[in-house]
Amino acid sequence: MKYELKLYNSLSREKETFRPIHEGYAGMYVCGPTVYNDVHLGNCRTFVSFDVIYRFLRYLGYRVRYVRNITDVGHLLDDGEDRMLKGARLEQLEPMEIAHKYTVGFHDMMRIFNTLPPSIEPFASGHIPEQIEMVQAILDKGFAYEVNGSVYFDTLRFMEQTGLYGKLSGRNVDELIAESRDNLKNQGEKRHPADFAIWMKAAPEHIMRWRSPWSEGFPGWHLECSAMSTKYLGKEFDIHGGGNDLKFPHHENEIAQNFGACQCSGARYWLHANMLLLNGKKMSKSDGNTISPKELFSGNSPHVSKGYSPMVVRFFMLQTHYRSTLDLTDEALQAAEKGFRRLMDAYKTLQSLQPLPQAQAGKLDAEMRSLVEGVAEEMCDDFNTPKAMARLFELVSRINALKGEQLPLEQVSADTLQRLKETFQAYIFEVFGLYDDAQASGDDGTLNGLMQLIIEIRADARQRKDWATSDKIRDALKAIGLQLKDGKDGTTWGRE
Ligand code: AMP
Ligand code: ZN
Repeated sequence: MKYELKLYNSLSREKETFRPIHEGYAGMYVCGPTVYNDVHLGNCRTFVSFDVIYRFLRYLGYRVRYVRNITDVGHLLDDGEDRMLKGARLEQLEPMEIAHKYTVGFHDMMRIFNTLPPSIEPFASGHIPEQIEMVQAILDKGFAYEVNGSVYFDTLRFMEQTGLYGKLSGRNVDELIAESRDNLKNQGEKRHPADFAIWMKAAPEHIMRWRSPWSEGFPGWHLECSAMSTKYLGKEFDIHGGGNDLKFPHHENEIAQNFGACQCSGARYWLHANMLLLNGKKMSKSDGNTISPKELFSGNSPHVSKGYSPMVVRFFMLQTHYRSTLDLTDEALQAAEKGFRRLMDAYKTLQSLQPLPQAQAGKLDAEMRSLVEGVAEEMCDDFNTPKAMARLFELVSRINALKGEQLPLEQVSADTLQRLKETFQAYIFEVFGLYDDAQASGDDGTLNGLMQLIIEIRADARQRKDWATSDKIRDALKAIGLQLKDGKDGTTWGRE
């Protein structure tokens, strides 16, 4: 590999040089969604972050096997109810109908955000035998015990013998006890409050159930990722990712299960993407501080003044490093929209620049080459998309100045111009996964221009108190899926 890739490992809390287990190959497992309701924007942020990581590893020349699971079993809510069963109960559907419906919705959304499909996308419900085998292996090694048909991981014993528990999340025993909200239902069966269920006996009304040596029941949520990562990537593999909120208990328990089953460490590098905030606060449905991807695209939400295209949102996400919290605000999205347009326009301008026959590499040439190199260097520094993007924008200024002849094109060699074109092409489309969606939808500004005209005509009608015309315009637009929004600063439009 030409570049040395450094990544921040949540386990060692240090930036480490990426050394894959098999030269030239990279195995990556990312915890996927629980498919019991619509995918939310926070999930999308995490999956877009790992999509860029996947794309960059491929760009560097690794053959990547990217496994991202679908959780359709065993993920309980805080009150102990199974998420899938709750979804099924609320919508009066079969649990498998719920899983299918929201998996389709999830895939649609991933496509809209232009994320690449993973190499393997295993369902937890399709890997029950592997999970039963793992429970048995953990029991055989003495790190689990059975009570009334349920099997619990013996956290204390594991901690005493290996000292490994709590390492990822940095928690001590007391904190672990206080925070172990997993499986509140059967607290009484556990030997220690920090123990967690790896197999649960199903209550009579629990319809998602499988036969096992211990009872008819279902696997604990954490187990699926241990079993499926082992199956598809091996007992030791390179990268494991997910959102920050999964560090504890999910990933901590995964590490314990992997080690408990085979004394092997599972993933070498643990990568965590940080949370998405809305106007500086955690997104929360109960206090209205939330926005769905669809609302964001249409502008149909009190949190935004207009709709933003999926590629503008993706660009916006990449302007923040994956390990920092990302604060979604209308102002930041407006700025992102301008930035995205500027980048796409510069790409087009760059195509029109041709080297001059008399070109002599000068100071400008050296400066541009160093900026071009800098893009890869920033990405090799723990996938620093905002800094890599900043280098591209320094190049955007120069591209525009070369076009406007404020900078001398004769100082840029054919070779540098070629490298610049390749870099823009590779990073914008291949690595960042962006494309010009305004152009792709046939909307190169014409629709917006027309809409501004219609908005003006309607404003005139309203001034004349011609409510019939004003309503007719609004209703006719609504019928074709376009919505007008009247605010204090005028009228904006979006798709419903
Ligand atoms: P879930 O479907 O809740 O299991 O989550 C799927 C993925 O999205 C996990 O990797 C979570 O860590 C991640 N995630 C959940 N909420 C957020 C959020 N607000 N911001 C970023 N990622 C999130
Ligand atoms: Zn997982």
